[in-house]
Amino acid sequence: MTTVADTHATTGVEGHPDPALDIPPGYAPPAPQAEKPALTMPLPPSFTSVAEERQHRKEQLAGAFRLFGRLGFGEGVAGHITARDPERTDCYWVNPFGMSFRHIRVSDLVLVDEAGQVVEGTRMVNTAAVCIHGAVHAARPDVIAAAHAHSVHGKALSSLPGVMLEPLTQDACAFYDDHGRYDDYTGVVTDGEEGRHIAAAIGDRKAAILSNHGLITVGHSVAECAWWFITMERSCQAQLLAMAAGTPRAIDHDTALLTRGTVGGHLAGWFQLQPLWDEIVRSDPDLFD
Ligand SMILES: [Zn+2]
Repeated sequence: MTTVADTHATTGVEGHPDPALDIPPGYAPPAPQAEKPALTMPLPPSFTSVAEERQHRKEQLAGAFRLFGRLGFGEGVAGHITARDPERTDCYWVNPFGMSFRHIRVSDLVLVDEAGQVVEGTRMVNTAAVCIHGAVHAARPDVIAAAHAHSVHGKALSSLPGVMLEPLTQDACAFYDDHGRYDDYTGVVTDGEEGRHIAAAIGDRKAAILSNHGLITVGHSVAECAWWFITMERSCQAQLLAMAAGTPRAIDHDTALLTRGTVGGHLAGWFQLQPLWDEIVRSDPDLFD
């Protein structure tokens, strides 16, 4: 028996079905599908020269300061973010002492060597910045950037003896079993020994709570480091709010570890800063000066 399908398969010209047999009146065949453009998302840049990479790091650093200023992390002259130089890897770029985070431009940044001496720039650098960041950069060759500030919720949490950042929220899981605590407070950091204690408290982790002082974070990029600081400060705020309101329920160990794997990696940290980076580039174009 010959079926309709057989007919279509055998009656066309050169093996094609005869369109007259199966296209009803008024029927328009669909237009050929245009090829869909590939979907994209921001990715960390690559560089063709060390000068290009240095410029990028300095721009990111100036942008990170602007964000810290906008988010209210400034407290007088306290606080510093550093970025390792891509060529002179024992040196790092840092903010000038006594300058508002909200005003820092690329041209204001100061290059400091491992002995804490200014090797490029004309402004003084905070001794505490040299002691803390010099020790952290020396102890962690993998670290490109380190951030420390006296943000309100970080320093409030730091005053509670032994309290760590708990996995109370998805965001806080980035720090689950991945931050340390420095329990001593012996005054303003003015020597390298104190900096080495702080570096030891960070260990191979991404952050530490410095008792009665504030927070410090590190990252494989300026953007990652800045994001950890921002989200750590906000996670401290969330924890303090939750503790004040009742008895918070923590996320269980396995789920917290799983979540850290999603939100707590180097690329995830870099990526999370991108919306804020876009905001600051649009509102503060002079940061590139
Ligand atoms: Zn400090």
